Amino acid sequence: MKKRVEFVSNSSSTSFVCQVCGREEGGMGMGYDDAGMKGCVHGHTVCESEFGKPPKGEELAELILECLSLYPGSEGRRQEYLELKGTMANNEWVEHVIEKESNWVFDDDGEMPAALCPICQFEKMIPEDIARYLMIKSGTSKEVVTIEVSERFKDYESFRKYIRADH
Ligand SMILES: [Zn+2]
Ligand SMILES: [Zn+2]
Repeated sequence: MKKRVEFVSNSSSTSFVCQVCGREEGGMGMGYDDAGMKGCVHGHTVCESEFGKPPKGEELAELILECLSLYPGSEGRRQEYLELKGTMANNEWVEHVIEKESNWVFDDDGEMPAALCPICQFEKMIPEDIARYLMIKSGTSKEVVTIEVSERFKDYESFRKYIRADH
């Protein structure tokens, strides 16, 4: 289920780019943790410090159940917790779920939940999503845009100037 964005330039050097602030870290055999970044469940790469802080108590237990629902293999565990909920005192149930599952959700290899990702929460949009959304909304396609841009601008330099200027 790992769908993280990794840019591998050769077999031993990896680099990570935060899709929120643009910070780039790279090095031999570098991992997410060394880079101070984490991946979210939808494959976004974001600085650890830019993810939201995990909630506590009951909210955390509910978030964990939400995470379990995203993985087909975890549906059984989720059902178990839901059944347990009716048989235990609420605070015991919350403790039980957190103790059993929070390592799974927040460990080094875990993907951060969408609820804590600034991109999944629409606090920040990535250019790729903006471009796709606008193409669909305006009923155009990559091919049409390519032709239009190539006809309108004499070279890449002038196009670049146009898309970088404030309008
Ligand atoms: Zn960042
Ligand atoms: Zn995300």
